[in-house]
Amino acid sequence: MDADAKSELLEAAQHELMKHHWDTFCTEPLSIAEGGKGVIVPGCVACRKLLYTNNQYLSHLAVDVLPQILEDVLKDNKNS
Ligand SMILES: [Zn+2]
Repeated sequence: MDADAKSELLEAAQHELMKHHWDTFCTEPLSIAEGGKGVIVPGCVACRKLLYTNNQYLSHLAVDVLPQILEDVLKDNKNS
């Protein structure tokens, strides 16, 4: 693999990883203020997964996100 291909893969992986930012989101479409049953919770916005601590967030990246990225990268690499 040449340097260009490597930096391309790195860029694609970083792009995927950065989708999983830790923020707050609403569990239901409507917030309580709007009359819905939704609650604002902290977690991964992309996966809508509850994550209360920085440690849980890092585990999510390492356990859920990274394997998927690697799998996609390796699959693409095999095809080319
Ligand atoms: Zn996520």
